[in-house]
Amino acid sequence: MTINVSELLAKVPTGLLIGDSWVEASDGGTFDVENPATGETIATLASATSEDALAALDAACAVQAEWARMPARERSNILRRGFELVAERAEEFATLMTLEMGKPLAEARGEVTYGNEFLRWFSEEAVRLYGRYGTTPEGNLRMLTALKPVGPCLLITPWNFPLAMATRKVAPAIAAGCVMVLKPARLTPLTSQYFAQTMLDAGLPAGVLNVVSGASASAISNPIMEDDRLRKVSFTGSTPVGQQLLKKAADKVLRTSMELGGNAPFIVFEDADLDLAIEGAMGAKMRNIGEACTAANRFLVHESVADEFGRRFAARLEEQVLGNGLDEGVTVGPLVEEKARDSVASLVDAAVAEGATVLTGGKAGTGAGYFYEPTVLTGVSTDAAILNEEIFGPVAPIVTFQTEEEALRLANSTEYGLASYVFTQDTSRIFRVSDGLEFGLVGVNSGVISNAAAPFGGVKQSGMGREGGLEGIEEYTSVQYIGIRDPYAG
Ligand code: NAD
Repeated sequence: MTINVSELLAKVPTGLLIGDSWVEASDGGTFDVENPATGETIATLASATSEDALAALDAACAVQAEWARMPARERSNILRRGFELVAERAEEFATLMTLEMGKPLAEARGEVTYGNEFLRWFSEEAVRLYGRYGTTPEGNLRMLTALKPVGPCLLITPWNFPLAMATRKVAPAIAAGCVMVLKPARLTPLTSQYFAQTMLDAGLPAGVLNVVSGASASAISNPIMEDDRLRKVSFTGSTPVGQQLLKKAADKVLRTSMELGGNAPFIVFEDADLDLAIEGAMGAKMRNIGEACTAANRFLVHESVADEFGRRFAARLEEQVLGNGLDEGVTVGPLVEEKARDSVASLVDAAVAEGATVLTGGKAGTGAGYFYEPTVLTGVSTDAAILNEEIFGPVAPIVTFQTEEEALRLANSTEYGLASYVFTQDTSRIFRVSDGLEFGLVGVNSGVISNAAAPFGGVKQSGMGREGGLEGIEEYTSVQYIGIRDPYAG
């Protein structure tokens, strides 16, 4: 299906969704959204003020009680209709994501499928929120537990997966009976705006989901987090911003879910199937142009296979086609903004200055758009910044190791603990190494393991809480215990 871009952009609401309508900002302020492949402005949206943020919270709180009482089957049906509508509009969502974020259209289509699964999954989970019934060990009380919606939520999402990061929060919140204010990332708000309209079209009652896009994140989040009615903040983004939000959440003792940064090790043992390892590396490194919290950030490769792995990986990267993600055949899009491209370039330049060798790539693209060539580096010193910071770009630094213990020590030598990858054909090693890895996610012989049915989340400074899976809905519930005097109690 060919999408007419100007017709599509004309369908995306440009206001703030407060209650039942899309409105201008209270001070009339706006901000622009840019296409990173061309540097052109593609849309101008209302920029929420603190007053607008509170109006959104008012609209949410006004319907919390009624929404929580709605039978789970009805909430489930709304999610299911949302899933079907997103599927019908899949090509529009994919095009929007490519336009505002840069990922190639084929990948954007993949995100629509992945992101939409959260609507289907949580439409199924909505009707399976069971409590427990039992008797105390002493026999004096009957115990009932109920899972209640946690209450009004603030959901803050990053720019890198504009649809999936929103559905991963909005769907379980709807399933659990919570109302919410969604604050999308400034760089990629269009997908969330269109998604919110799609949920209204699917029958979501006004006020349950409010959207406040804007140029200033803290002008929106601070007043909401300082308000006594808010009960929860769910954040996906960088660790430093997550830390600030956790401090702020402490003042009101808010429930928090934090999906933060990563520094994923990609370990290739000497017994790995190298075909699988190269395929896995392409997924773990190149998915989303390397702009993923799960992106392989450090390739730890056994010294006996490092040369072959590096050579073959570099050859695969040389086949990639850089360009505007909307163009046929393009496999690597631009980075999201100039600052992002410059940060990748400076990490590579510093590693090279410290002695690393460039096997392929190593340069920023020229002309309009924020491109960086797919790059493989070898001989990277273990204290290089590129191994210790999130690269967030298509760059693969390779470090060699000799023993399993050394691989584990290197892998765990980071404050992050989100994704990790292991390539080996030895089943005992799979369990030994998984036991030793301090990461919330372990991909074994696979470079992409995200799935709506699986619990996604990190340990250490990568955050707390899980999204997706059976666990995802629990983030939006609180347990109430009801103790009833046992009729046989003395
Ligand atoms: P970011 O932390 O800069 O921004 C994330 C969101 O927080 C945006 O909506 C932004 O506007 C908002 N924000 C920024 N400053 C804020 C403040 N002071 N108060 C309130 N909100 C604020 O992150 P980003 O650059 O958008 O995204 C990239 C980061 O997200 C990377 O670190 C990546 O690893 C992480 N990420 C994590 C996951 C995960 O599931 N763990 C998934 C995707 C991205």
